[in-house]
Amino acid sequence: MAEPLCLMTVHAHPDDESSKGPSTVARYRSQGVHTVLVCCTGGEEGEIHNPAVVLAEGEDLGARRAKELADAAAVIGYDEVVMLGYRDSGMPDSEANAMPEAFANAPLDEAVGRLVAHIRRTRPQVLVCYPDKQHEYPHPDHLRAHEIAYVAFDAAADPTLYPEAGEAHEIAKLY
Ligand SMILES: [Zn+2]
Repeated sequence: MAEPLCLMTVHAHPDDESSKGPSTVARYRSQGVHTVLVCCTGGEEGEIHNPAVVLAEGEDLGARRAKELADAAAVIGYDEVVMLGYRDSGMPDSEANAMPEAFANAPLDEAVGRLVAHIRRTRPQVLVCYPDKQHEYPHPDHLRAHEIAYVAFDAAADPTLYPEAGEAHEIAKLY
């Protein structure tokens, strides 16, 4: 029997899933494809441009964005949201760039290993990520999200890499 169909997307922040390709995900979900969103950071450095959005006293932006992400994923039709567990690195040349827990500062091997584990667990046939040319929006987390997706695409298929992360899995297509 064929393996169940799975589509995985890799995004940098909560809200990227809504601005990049949500209709594609919704379409495949409607056809019964299992859909997995990997979100690399919590979006803690985002800015609020919508005057209708007001944080409650003591509410932090990361918590608000986690809730927004869950709501958005439900509307789009993601079956699963995976947080890769890194902190938002902030816009280029901002203070947040220097935070040790920032995604852009994480060792490449470590971040790739986390993604490989989710690839091997969910076994997608298709992986969708950001392109290598992102000069119009060179956010450090978007650049890094591209890097780890490209490396993990190959690494997930190689049983000699990350043997603790599950059985090797070859993804058919990378977009
Ligand atoms: Zn983003």
